[in-house]
Amino acid sequence: MAIKKILVNRDLCIGAASCVVSAGSVFELDSENKGVLKQHGGVKNSGPAKKMQLENSAISDEDLMLAAQSCPTKAIFLYNEADKQIYP
Ligand code: SF4
Repeated sequence: MAIKKILVNRDLCIGAASCVVSAGSVFELDSENKGVLKQHGGVKNSGPAKKMQLENSAISDEDLMLAAQSCPTKAIFLYNEADKQIYP
């Protein structure tokens, strides 16, 4: 299992910031209190973003998975190389 793509579903996100606590190098909250992904070139949006586009693209799949699992509303979606959803 390799994580290739990440997406924050803004409709599901309630701004609980668990993802920020869990992986602050990847997630932060925007002005609407929704989770966004910190990407190269100062880009910040809810995605989808490829893992390689992340500012911290070196984050381990395990840590990304833990961050996704920490989200109380399961708003963080993870996809593998075949573009198959692997979480939630
Ligand atoms: S943990 Fe989930 S609900 Fe909380 S900010 Fe992150 S994506 Fe949104």
